[in-house]
Amino acid sequence: MYKNYLWATQRSKYNKKSQPYEGCLLCGVAKNDKGVIKKVVYQNDKVMVILNVFPYNVGHVQVVPIKHVETLEDLGDEERNYLFSMTTKTIALLKKTFNPAGINMGMNLGGDPSGASIAHIHVQIVPRYKRDCGFMETLADTRVMPKSLDDVLKDLKKNVSILKE
Ligand SMILES: [Zn+2]
Repeated sequence: MYKNYLWATQRSKYNKKSQPYEGCLLCGVAKNDKGVIKKVVYQNDKVMVILNVFPYNVGHVQVVPIKHVETLEDLGDEERNYLFSMTTKTIALLKKTFNPAGINMGMNLGGDPSGASIAHIHVQIVPRYKRDCGFMETLADTRVMPKSLDDVLKDLKKNVSILKE
């Protein structure tokens, strides 16, 4: 986790890592609640694919079941399979859009010790690029993002039909 973000497209602005919200942030995002930052790539009644607004990398997205569940066991088999199917399609979308060298994917389950900051389960997908960590990350605890969230969203939406196949 980086303390600060330096968006190369808006060099004077640092984004602090916090989005204060009462209740479940991801349920708030699903319901388009006021006061949440929502960058949605795709949403239907079962799942949403959203940008992580505190990304590790360009194209860092989350695949989130709309239903509030805090463990994988609380999803039915069909719901879990659908989540994984959408995760797979989202990876295809990221590959087509950003051509990453690799991808990290995972879930933090079970609260604080796991690193999960939100109990509502979600799959994190982080594209990795060659040399994606530089001196600002190493020495200044600051992540340099070469592309704005809105530009990333625009790029992903060009290929969003992959998620509907
Ligand atoms: Zn929730």
